[in-house]
Amino acid sequence: MKVRFAPSPTGYLHIGNARTALITWLFARANKAEFLLRIDDTDQERSKTEYELAIEDGLIWMGMDWDEKARQRDRLDIYETKIEQLKKDGRLYACYESADELALKRKSQLSRGLPPIYDRESLNLTEEQIVKYEAEGRQPHWRFKLEHAPIEWNDLVRGDVKFEGADLSDPVLIREDGSPLYHLCSVIDDIEYGITHVIRGEDHVSNTACHIQMFEALGAKPPEFAHLPLLSDKEGGKLSKRLGSLSIKDVRDEDELEPMAVVSLLARLGTSDPIEVFTDMKDVIAGFDISKFSRGTPKFDTEELLRLNSKILHETPFEDVQVRLSNMGLGDLDEDFWKAVRPNLERLRDVSEWWNVAKGPVTPVIEEPEFIKDALELLPPAPWDENTWMGWTNAVKEKTGRKGKQLFMPLRQALTGMDHGPELDKLLLLIGPEKAKERLMSYKEAA
Ligand code: GLU
Repeated sequence: MKVRFAPSPTGYLHIGNARTALITWLFARANKAEFLLRIDDTDQERSKTEYELAIEDGLIWMGMDWDEKARQRDRLDIYETKIEQLKKDGRLYACYESADELALKRKSQLSRGLPPIYDRESLNLTEEQIVKYEAEGRQPHWRFKLEHAPIEWNDLVRGDVKFEGADLSDPVLIREDGSPLYHLCSVIDDIEYGITHVIRGEDHVSNTACHIQMFEALGAKPPEFAHLPLLSDKEGGKLSKRLGSLSIKDVRDEDELEPMAVVSLLARLGTSDPIEVFTDMKDVIAGFDISKFSRGTPKFDTEELLRLNSKILHETPFEDVQVRLSNMGLGDLDEDFWKAVRPNLERLRDVSEWWNVAKGPVTPVIEEPEFIKDALELLPPAPWDENTWMGWTNAVKEKTGRKGKQLFMPLRQALTGMDHGPELDKLLLLIGPEKAKERLMSYKEAA
């Protein structure tokens, strides 16, 4: 068995494509199939090496690898041979309509209540008309002549799918400048690389109907197909521009999320299995089954991604983050500190906030020196434990009659120099008796 992930390097790897990649990759690993990374770069103007590299980076970051890589740009000679064959067999025909003329045709069909299917006018051009067009400087584009017959397949996700050839426009396979288009290159490559299963988004369903006839025209048996429904936002609407274009690069560099949070969510979204935290790809592979994916639109919720992210951090051992902490300038942060703050993290970067307020230096903010003096006097002696904060603040409350914000805010400001930050019961332990005392003592300078 062999599958492929075929991104077009015209942008970064976004969340929807990353999902297709992951499901294809999991299918390969779960079925001991080969995984081909195919770069669909026939659109020379929009394809960029920068994007190709970023897509590869994104796949690697998520924990994927590939057994083989191909670039369509390197295969133009092969497409040329197949084009000749299709022309000889009468399955490709030259068309001379300009983009404007085609748009006009569609408009007039729609206004008459007809589906906007190409009317094959160019198929009936006389020799004379063709000579005239070419004299005008028109270059033909080429369409694949579909057979007007039923097209059927059993989709691994959608079940039985049926199209009528007559309901589809003959797809354009070659541009005016002679360059081949996606449909043609994709089908030729799927044949030549021996692809057995094509897994892709449901936006390709009607393409598949055309592709099946193209496989047959090229003398090959079509592969199996699985069309995954596209992600929606959490209300079930189309993914907004921001979410739809959410790139794996942003998730990694801006949101600083853990790759396994993304994997955990994308591997289960749209399946009959519950979403759960995975920290080891082996477990994701072991639980993968393409038949668990349904036709229902999966809802992508960034809050869920964050929840998974924090759960993963709460389980992450120190040795797995040590290098990253060091790169964040937290080389002195040790295993004990990591274990103490880990349960409070939503993202790894939150650790800096805890580290800075715990280790200082901080400039205590003391607006009411008398109150802080009282609090200092009541500060329990070491050793401290998780009940120290509660015991201490209860005592302060009793003595001063303060409660709520009036009680906690001045303590927070004196201990951390800030009016927001990590939870104080846990933070107090990380600050420790010595530093806490020293910070509270600053009431003297404030008096
Ligand atoms: N390059 C195409 C895309 O990104 C590939 C689709 C396919 O899997 O055939 O949509």
